[in-house]
Amino acid sequence: MDFELAEVTVNPLGIRVLVLECVQVQGCPDCGTVTGRVHSRRMMAVRDLPFGAPWLVRWDKRRLFCDVRRCPRRTLSSAARRWGRDSG
Ligand SMILES: [Zn+2]
Repeated sequence: MDFELAEVTVNPLGIRVLVLECVQVQGCPDCGTVTGRVHSRRMMAVRDLPFGAPWLVRWDKRRLFCDVRRCPRRTLSSAARRWGRDSG
């Protein structure tokens, strides 16, 4: 997945970076329908960076709707789900 650098903030506590997903649509893993309709967003802290503090990289992760009525999956999240954890 590709990301776009949205914001960089430097202060005495460190360097904060905000990234956004470049791809706006994604296929449902159950029915394959492509969707870009956003259900919700949340900030995730990116783990396993090749550099540590004072860097904090946050990702504006989106959850999308699957609009196919017969699909058992109502929402789906980004394919890069292993990359982050909730940061509040
Ligand atoms: Zn689906």
